[in-house]
Amino acid sequence: MNEPLSFVHPTADSPWGTYLSQIDRVVPYLGRLARWTETLRRPKRTLIVDVPIEMDDGTIAHYEGYRVQHSLTRGPGKGGVRYHPDVTLEEVMALSAWMSIKNAAVNLPFGGAKGGIRVDPKRLSMKELEKLTRRYTSEIGIIIGPTQDIPAPDVNTNAQIMAWMMDTYSMNVGGTATGVVTGKPIHLGGSLGRVKATGRGVFVTGREAARRLGLNLDGARVAVQGFGNVGSSAAELFGQAGAKIVAIQDHSGTIRNEQGFDLADLMPHVHEAGGVGGFKGGEAMHGEEFWDTPCDILIVAALEGQITADRARRIRAKLVLEGANGPTVPSADDILADRGVLVVPDVICNAGGVTVSYFEWVQDFSSFFWTEDEINVRLDKIMVGALKNIWDTADHHKISLRTATFAVACERILSAREERGLYP
Ligand code: GLU
Repeated sequence: MNEPLSFVHPTADSPWGTYLSQIDRVVPYLGRLARWTETLRRPKRTLIVDVPIEMDDGTIAHYEGYRVQHSLTRGPGKGGVRYHPDVTLEEVMALSAWMSIKNAAVNLPFGGAKGGIRVDPKRLSMKELEKLTRRYTSEIGIIIGPTQDIPAPDVNTNAQIMAWMMDTYSMNVGGTATGVVTGKPIHLGGSLGRVKATGRGVFVTGREAARRLGLNLDGARVAVQGFGNVGSSAAELFGQAGAKIVAIQDHSGTIRNEQGFDLADLMPHVHEAGGVGGFKGGEAMHGEEFWDTPCDILIVAALEGQITADRARRIRAKLVLEGANGPTVPSADDILADRGVLVVPDVICNAGGVTVSYFEWVQDFSSFFWTEDEINVRLDKIMVGALKNIWDTADHHKISLRTATFAVACERILSAREERGLYP
Protein backbone atom coordinates (compact mmCIF):
# COMPACT_ATOMS: atom_id res chain seq x y z
CA MET A 1 0.00 0.00 0.00
CA ASN A 2 2.77 2.43 0.97
CA GLU A 3 5.70 2.46 -1.45
CA PRO A 4 9.10 3.42 0.05
CA LEU A 5 10.12 7.02 -0.66
CA SER A 6 11.57 7.38 -4.15
CA PHE A 7 14.12 10.09 -3.29
CA VAL A 8 16.31 8.17 -0.82
CA HIS A 9 17.95 4.77 -1.09
CA PRO A 10 18.82 3.73 2.45
CA THR A 11 20.92 0.66 3.27
CA ALA A 12 20.76 -1.36 6.51
CA ASP A 13 23.47 0.74 8.17
CA SER A 14 22.92 4.16 6.54
CA PRO A 15 21.34 6.87 8.72
CA TRP A 16 17.82 6.65 7.29
CA GLY A 17 18.07 2.84 7.14
CA THR A 18 19.12 2.82 10.81
CA TYR A 19 16.20 5.07 11.73
CA LEU A 20 13.68 2.93 9.77
CA SER A 21 14.83 -0.21 11.55
CA GLN A 22 14.48 1.59 14.91
CA ILE A 23 10.88 2.39 13.93
CA ASP A 24 10.25 -1.25 12.91
CA ARG A 25 11.40 -2.32 16.37
CA VAL A 26 9.01 -0.03 18.24
CA VAL A 27 5.83 -0.86 16.27
CA PRO A 28 4.88 -3.92 18.42
CA TYR A 29 4.69 -1.61 21.46
CA LEU A 30 2.44 1.06 19.95
CA GLY A 31 -0.92 -0.72 20.33
CA ARG A 32 -3.76 0.95 18.41
CA LEU A 33 -1.47 3.89 17.48
CA ALA A 34 0.50 1.52 15.21
CA ARG A 35 -2.06 2.46 12.55
CA TRP A 36 -0.32 5.84 12.24
CA THR A 37 3.24 4.50 12.03
CA GLU A 38 3.76 5.35 8.35
CA THR A 39 3.67 9.01 9.48
CA LEU A 40 7.07 8.44 11.09
CA ARG A 41 8.58 6.90 7.95
CA ARG A 42 7.89 9.99 5.83
CA PRO A 43 9.23 13.45 6.58
CA LYS A 44 6.47 16.03 6.43
CA ARG A 45 8.45 18.52 4.35
CA THR A 46 11.79 18.27 2.54
CA LEU A 47 13.48 21.33 1.08
CA ILE A 48 16.65 21.25 -1.07
CA VAL A 49 18.17 24.64 -1.89
CA ASP A 50 20.96 25.90 -4.08
CA VAL A 51 23.30 28.19 -2.14
CA PRO A 52 25.46 30.29 -4.49
CA ILE A 53 28.09 32.67 -3.08
CA GLU A 54 30.80 34.89 -4.52
CA MET A 55 34.16 33.65 -3.22
CA ASP A 56 37.01 35.93 -2.14
CA ASP A 57 38.78 35.28 -5.50
CA GLY A 58 35.74 36.46 -7.49
CA THR A 59 34.53 33.03 -8.62
CA ILE A 60 30.96 31.85 -7.93
CA ALA A 61 30.60 28.65 -5.91
CA HIS A 62 27.38 26.66 -5.46
CA TYR A 63 26.60 24.52 -2.41
CA GLU A 64 23.75 22.13 -1.77
CA GLY A 65 21.64 22.96 1.31
CA TYR A 66 18.76 21.19 3.02
CA ARG A 67 16.08 21.76 5.64
CA VAL A 68 13.89 18.81 6.49
CA GLN A 69 10.85 19.10 8.78
CA HIS A 70 10.22 15.53 9.78
CA SER A 71 7.27 16.28 12.05
CA LEU A 72 5.36 19.40 13.08
CA THR A 73 2.66 17.49 14.95
CA ARG A 74 3.63 18.43 18.52
CA GLY A 75 4.89 21.95 17.80
CA PRO A 76 7.27 23.90 15.56
CA GLY A 77 10.16 22.13 13.87
CA LYS A 78 13.35 22.14 15.96
CA GLY A 79 16.85 20.94 15.24
CA GLY A 80 20.34 22.00 14.29
CA VAL A 81 22.13 22.92 11.09
CA ARG A 82 25.23 20.96 10.12
CA TYR A 83 28.06 22.08 7.81
CA HIS A 84 30.02 19.07 6.58
CA PRO A 85 31.37 17.89 3.20
CA ASP A 86 29.58 14.53 3.57
CA VAL A 87 26.11 15.91 4.41
CA THR A 88 23.37 14.35 2.26
CA LEU A 89 19.61 14.64 2.09
CA GLU A 90 19.35 11.13 3.51
CA GLU A 91 21.46 12.05 6.51
CA VAL A 92 19.50 15.25 7.20
CA MET A 93 16.24 13.28 6.97
CA ALA A 94 17.47 10.83 9.60
CA LEU A 95 18.75 13.63 11.83
CA SER A 96 15.40 15.43 11.55
CA ALA A 97 13.53 12.26 12.48
CA TRP A 98 15.79 11.67 15.49
CA MET A 99 14.94 15.25 16.57
CA SER A 100 11.21 14.38 16.51
CA ILE A 101 11.88 11.37 18.73
CA LYS A 102 14.25 13.28 21.02
CA ASN A 103 11.93 16.27 21.51
CA ALA A 104 9.00 13.99 22.27
CA ALA A 105 11.08 11.77 24.59
CA VAL A 106 11.90 14.81 26.76
CA ASN A 107 8.36 16.14 26.25
CA LEU A 108 9.43 19.45 24.69
CA PRO A 109 6.59 21.10 22.71
CA PHE A 110 8.42 20.71 19.39
CA GLY A 111 8.31 18.57 16.29
CA GLY A 112 11.58 17.58 14.64
CA ALA A 113 13.67 19.23 11.92
CA LYS A 114 17.26 19.45 10.76
CA GLY A 115 19.29 21.32 8.18
CA GLY A 116 22.65 21.09 6.56
CA ILE A 117 24.97 22.32 3.86
CA ARG A 118 27.30 20.03 1.93
CA VAL A 119 30.46 22.06 2.50
CA ASP A 120 33.81 21.88 4.25
CA PRO A 121 33.61 25.11 6.28
CA LYS A 122 37.32 24.89 7.18
CA ARG A 123 38.12 25.77 3.56
CA LEU A 124 36.09 29.00 3.63
CA SER A 125 37.21 32.41 4.89
CA MET A 126 35.07 34.10 7.57
CA LYS A 127 33.57 36.35 4.88
CA GLU A 128 32.66 33.36 2.69
CA LEU A 129 31.20 31.50 5.71
CA GLU A 130 29.04 34.52 6.51
CA LYS A 131 27.79 34.79 2.91
CA LEU A 132 27.06 31.05 2.82
CA THR A 133 25.10 31.24 6.07
CA ARG A 134 23.12 34.33 5.05
CA ARG A 135 22.19 32.98 1.62
CA TYR A 136 21.22 29.59 3.08
CA THR A 137 19.06 31.34 5.71
CA SER A 138 17.31 33.39 3.03
CA GLU A 139 16.67 30.25 0.97
CA ILE A 140 15.14 28.30 3.86
CA GLY A 141 13.44 31.49 5.15
CA ILE A 142 10.21 30.36 3.49
CA ILE A 143 9.79 27.56 6.04
CA ILE A 144 11.60 28.66 9.23
CA GLY A 145 10.41 31.12 11.90
CA PRO A 146 9.94 31.39 15.68
CA THR A 147 6.65 29.47 15.55
CA GLN A 148 7.40 27.41 12.43
CA ASP A 149 10.86 25.88 12.68
CA ILE A 150 13.79 26.96 14.84
CA PRO A 151 17.36 26.01 13.78
CA ALA A 152 20.32 25.70 16.19
CA PRO A 153 24.01 24.72 16.12
CA ASP A 154 25.16 21.22 15.22
CA VAL A 155 28.40 19.83 13.74
CA ASN A 156 30.66 22.75 12.61
CA THR A 157 28.14 25.49 13.38
CA ASN A 158 28.23 27.80 16.41
CA ALA A 159 26.89 30.95 18.09
CA GLN A 160 28.38 33.27 15.44
CA ILE A 161 26.61 31.36 12.66
CA MET A 162 23.37 31.55 14.65
CA ALA A 163 23.86 35.34 14.99
CA TRP A 164 24.14 35.65 11.19
CA MET A 165 21.05 33.45 10.74
CA MET A 166 19.07 35.51 13.23
CA ASP A 167 20.16 38.77 11.61
CA THR A 168 19.38 37.59 8.06
CA TYR A 169 15.93 36.30 8.98
CA SER A 170 15.24 39.49 10.98
CA MET A 171 16.29 41.76 8.10
CA ASN A 172 14.05 39.81 5.72
CA VAL A 173 10.98 40.06 7.96
CA GLY A 174 11.66 43.66 9.01
CA GLY A 175 11.97 43.19 12.79
CA THR A 176 14.27 41.59 15.33
CA ALA A 177 13.18 37.96 15.63
CA THR A 178 15.47 36.49 18.28
CA GLY A 179 13.32 33.34 18.64
CA VAL A 180 14.05 32.12 15.09
CA VAL A 181 17.23 30.30 16.14
CA THR A 182 18.71 29.05 19.42
CA GLY A 183 22.33 28.73 20.45
CA LYS A 184 22.82 32.47 19.85
CA PRO A 185 25.42 34.69 21.57
CA ILE A 186 24.23 35.73 25.04
CA HIS A 187 23.62 39.42 24.29
CA LEU A 188 21.50 38.53 21.22
CA GLY A 189 19.00 36.55 23.29
CA GLY A 190 21.11 33.45 23.82
CA SER A 191 20.81 31.39 26.98
CA LEU A 192 23.38 30.85 29.67
CA GLY A 193 24.41 27.22 29.81
CA ARG A 194 23.48 26.47 26.16
CA VAL A 195 27.03 25.87 24.88
CA LYS A 196 27.74 23.09 27.37
CA ALA A 197 24.16 21.80 27.63
CA THR A 198 24.53 18.78 25.34
CA GLY A 199 27.65 17.61 27.18
CA ARG A 200 25.92 18.24 30.51
CA GLY A 201 22.97 16.10 29.41
CA VAL A 202 25.36 13.30 28.41
CA PHE A 203 26.89 13.53 31.89
CA VAL A 204 23.53 13.59 33.70
CA THR A 205 22.16 10.55 31.84
CA GLY A 206 25.53 8.81 32.25
CA ARG A 207 25.58 9.54 35.98
CA GLU A 208 22.06 8.09 36.40
CA ALA A 209 22.85 5.00 34.30
CA ALA A 210 26.09 4.42 36.23
CA ARG A 211 24.21 4.63 39.52
CA ARG A 212 21.75 1.99 38.35
CA LEU A 213 24.64 -0.24 37.22
CA GLY A 214 26.42 0.21 40.55
CA LEU A 215 29.36 1.83 38.76
CA ASN A 216 31.19 4.43 40.83
CA LEU A 217 32.18 7.48 38.78
CA ASP A 218 35.05 8.22 41.12
CA GLY A 219 37.99 6.47 39.44
CA ALA A 220 35.89 5.19 36.49
CA ARG A 221 37.80 5.00 33.18
CA VAL A 222 36.20 6.95 30.33
CA ALA A 223 37.04 6.83 26.60
CA VAL A 224 35.70 9.63 24.38
CA GLN A 225 35.29 9.65 20.61
CA GLY A 226 34.72 13.15 19.24
CA PHE A 227 36.21 16.04 21.20
CA GLY A 228 34.19 18.96 19.90
CA ASN A 229 31.66 20.84 21.98
CA VAL A 230 29.77 17.73 23.16
CA GLY A 231 32.64 15.32 23.87
CA SER A 232 34.86 17.88 25.61
CA SER A 233 32.06 19.29 27.83
CA ALA A 234 30.98 15.80 28.86
CA ALA A 235 34.61 14.78 29.54
CA GLU A 236 35.09 17.83 31.73
CA LEU A 237 32.04 16.97 33.88
CA PHE A 238 33.06 13.32 34.20
CA GLY A 239 36.53 14.55 35.20
CA GLN A 240 35.00 16.76 37.89
CA ALA A 241 33.09 13.73 39.20
CA GLY A 242 36.42 11.92 39.69
CA ALA A 243 36.48 9.84 36.48
CA LYS A 244 39.69 9.42 34.45
CA ILE A 245 39.62 10.22 30.74
CA VAL A 246 41.90 7.45 29.46
CA ALA A 247 41.50 7.68 25.65
CA ILE A 248 40.32 10.33 23.21
CA GLN A 249 39.82 10.17 19.47
CA ASP A 250 38.94 13.00 17.12
CA HIS A 251 39.48 13.92 13.44
CA SER A 252 43.09 14.91 14.23
CA GLY A 253 44.25 11.77 16.02
CA THR A 254 43.84 9.22 18.82
CA ILE A 255 45.60 9.49 22.18
CA ARG A 256 45.67 7.52 25.41
CA ASN A 257 46.86 7.96 28.98
CA GLU A 258 46.05 5.22 31.48
CA GLN A 259 46.51 7.64 34.39
CA GLY A 260 43.87 9.97 32.89
CA PHE A 261 44.48 13.15 30.90
CA ASP A 262 44.96 16.49 32.58
CA LEU A 263 42.12 18.37 30.85
CA ALA A 264 43.43 21.75 32.03
CA ASP A 265 46.53 21.02 29.91
CA LEU A 266 44.70 19.38 27.04
CA MET A 267 42.01 22.03 26.37
CA PRO A 268 44.42 24.85 25.39
CA HIS A 269 46.18 22.39 23.02
CA VAL A 270 42.83 21.47 21.41
CA HIS A 271 41.96 25.15 20.90
CA GLU A 272 45.33 25.94 19.37
CA ALA A 273 45.92 22.81 17.27
CA GLY A 274 42.25 22.27 16.32
CA GLY A 275 42.18 18.79 17.83
CA VAL A 276 43.77 16.33 20.28
CA GLY A 277 46.40 15.08 17.77
CA GLY A 278 49.96 15.93 18.79
CA PHE A 279 49.14 16.41 22.51
CA LYS A 280 52.24 15.66 24.56
CA GLY A 281 50.45 14.63 27.77
CA GLY A 282 49.61 11.18 26.37
CA GLU A 283 50.63 8.56 23.88
CA ALA A 284 49.42 8.47 20.26
CA MET A 285 47.74 5.30 19.09
CA HIS A 286 46.34 3.89 15.88
CA GLY A 287 42.75 5.00 15.23
CA GLU A 288 41.18 1.56 15.11
CA GLU A 289 42.79 0.56 18.45
CA PHE A 290 40.57 3.11 20.17
CA TRP A 291 37.70 0.59 20.15
CA ASP A 292 39.78 -1.94 22.15
CA THR A 293 40.48 0.52 24.98
CA PRO A 294 39.87 -1.01 28.42
CA CYS A 295 37.35 1.39 30.00
CA ASP A 296 34.14 1.52 32.01
CA ILE A 297 32.32 4.19 30.02
CA LEU A 298 32.55 4.93 26.30
CA ILE A 299 31.22 8.26 25.06
CA VAL A 300 30.63 8.45 21.31
CA ALA A 301 30.30 12.12 20.40
CA ALA A 302 31.39 12.27 16.75
CA LEU A 303 29.27 11.25 13.75
CA GLU A 304 26.81 8.56 12.67
CA GLY A 305 27.64 4.91 12.05
CA GLN A 306 30.76 4.74 14.25
CA ILE A 307 29.80 1.66 16.25
CA THR A 308 29.73 -1.04 13.59
CA ALA A 309 29.13 -4.74 14.26
CA ASP A 310 32.88 -5.40 14.32
CA ARG A 311 33.59 -2.60 16.80
CA ALA A 312 30.62 -3.61 18.95
CA ARG A 313 32.28 -7.01 19.47
CA ARG A 314 35.46 -5.30 20.71
CA ILE A 315 34.13 -2.52 22.93
CA ARG A 316 35.20 -3.17 26.54
CA ALA A 317 33.01 -0.60 28.29
CA LYS A 318 30.06 -1.49 30.52
CA LEU A 319 28.19 1.65 29.51
CA VAL A 320 28.00 3.46 26.15
CA LEU A 321 26.76 7.06 26.07
CA GLU A 322 25.62 8.35 22.69
CA GLY A 323 26.51 12.04 22.59
CA ALA A 324 26.40 11.94 18.76
CA ASN A 325 23.25 11.35 16.74
CA GLY A 326 22.97 7.89 15.21
CA PRO A 327 26.41 6.53 16.21
CA THR A 328 25.33 2.86 16.48
CA VAL A 329 24.11 0.77 13.54
CA PRO A 330 21.24 -1.70 14.26
CA SER A 331 23.36 -4.88 14.02
CA ALA A 332 25.84 -3.39 16.51
CA ASP A 333 22.98 -2.52 18.87
CA ASP A 334 22.05 -6.21 19.03
CA ILE A 335 25.65 -7.29 19.63
CA LEU A 336 26.09 -4.79 22.48
CA ALA A 337 22.81 -5.95 24.05
CA ASP A 338 23.89 -9.63 23.80
CA ARG A 339 27.21 -8.76 25.41
CA GLY A 340 25.47 -6.98 28.29
CA VAL A 341 26.79 -3.51 27.39
CA LEU A 342 24.23 -0.87 28.35
CA VAL A 343 23.63 1.83 25.73
CA VAL A 344 22.03 5.16 26.66
CA PRO A 345 20.69 6.10 23.21
CA ASP A 346 21.26 9.42 21.47
CA VAL A 347 17.56 10.32 21.53
CA ILE A 348 17.74 10.78 25.31
CA CYS A 349 21.50 10.96 26.00
CA ASN A 350 22.17 14.08 23.90
CA ALA A 351 18.80 15.78 24.48
CA GLY A 352 20.36 18.32 26.88
CA GLY A 353 21.24 20.65 24.00
CA VAL A 354 17.75 20.94 22.62
CA THR A 355 16.32 21.14 26.14
CA VAL A 356 18.32 24.30 26.84
CA SER A 357 17.42 25.47 23.30
CA TYR A 358 13.82 25.18 24.47
CA PHE A 359 14.70 27.28 27.56
CA GLU A 360 16.32 29.85 25.24
CA TRP A 361 13.23 30.01 23.02
CA VAL A 362 10.96 30.45 26.06
CA GLN A 363 13.25 33.20 27.46
CA ASP A 364 13.24 34.99 24.08
CA PHE A 365 9.45 34.92 23.91
CA SER A 366 9.06 36.28 27.42
CA SER A 367 12.12 38.59 27.21
CA PHE A 368 12.97 37.43 30.71
CA PHE A 369 16.28 35.66 31.27
CA TRP A 370 17.22 33.02 33.82
CA THR A 371 20.45 32.48 35.75
CA GLU A 372 22.87 29.73 34.72
CA ASP A 373 22.13 27.93 37.94
CA GLU A 374 18.37 27.94 37.24
CA ILE A 375 19.06 26.53 33.79
CA ASN A 376 21.36 23.75 34.97
CA VAL A 377 19.00 22.74 37.79
CA ARG A 378 15.99 22.60 35.43
CA LEU A 379 18.02 20.70 32.82
CA ASP A 380 19.11 18.12 35.39
CA LYS A 381 15.54 17.67 36.59
CA ILE A 382 14.07 17.24 33.09
CA MET A 383 16.77 14.78 31.99
CA VAL A 384 16.51 12.67 35.17
CA GLY A 385 12.68 12.56 34.92
CA ALA A 386 12.70 11.66 31.22
CA LEU A 387 15.30 8.93 31.72
CA LYS A 388 13.37 7.44 34.65
CA ASN A 389 10.21 7.23 32.57
CA ILE A 390 12.16 5.54 29.74
CA TRP A 391 13.83 3.14 32.14
CA ASP A 392 10.45 2.13 33.62
CA THR A 393 9.12 1.53 30.08
CA ALA A 394 12.18 -0.59 29.25
CA ASP A 395 11.73 -2.68 32.42
CA HIS A 396 8.01 -3.08 31.82
CA HIS A 397 8.35 -4.41 28.25
CA LYS A 398 11.84 -5.94 28.72
CA ILE A 399 13.21 -3.90 25.82
CA SER A 400 16.36 -1.84 25.23
CA LEU A 401 16.56 1.78 26.37
CA ARG A 402 16.54 2.77 22.68
CA THR A 403 13.30 0.98 21.87
CA ALA A 404 11.83 2.27 25.15
CA THR A 405 12.74 5.85 24.23
CA PHE A 406 11.12 5.36 20.83
CA ALA A 407 8.04 3.85 22.53
CA VAL A 408 7.62 6.84 24.87
CA ALA A 409 8.24 9.35 22.07
CA CYS A 410 6.16 7.66 19.36
CA GLU A 411 3.25 7.30 21.77
CA ARG A 412 3.31 11.07 22.28
CA ILE A 413 3.76 11.94 18.59
CA LEU A 414 1.14 9.53 17.29
CA SER A 415 -1.42 10.39 20.01
CA ALA A 416 -1.10 14.03 18.97
CA ARG A 417 -1.41 12.94 15.33
CA GLU A 418 -4.57 11.04 16.05
CA GLU A 419 -6.09 13.82 18.16
CA ARG A 420 -5.35 16.42 15.48
CA GLY A 421 -6.72 14.16 12.74
CA LEU A 422 -6.14 14.39 9.00
CA TYR A 423 -6.97 17.68 7.29
CA PRO A 424 -8.49 18.22 4.83
N1 GLU B 1 22.04 19.92 17.25
C1 GLU B 1 21.57 19.53 18.54
C2 GLU B 1 20.95 18.15 18.50
O1 GLU B 1 21.25 17.36 17.64
C3 GLU B 1 20.66 20.59 19.16
C4 GLU B 1 19.45 20.95 18.36
C5 GLU B 1 18.70 22.15 18.93
O2 GLU B 1 19.09 22.72 19.93
O3 GLU B 1 17.69 22.50 18.30
O4 GLU B 1 20.19 17.78 19.36
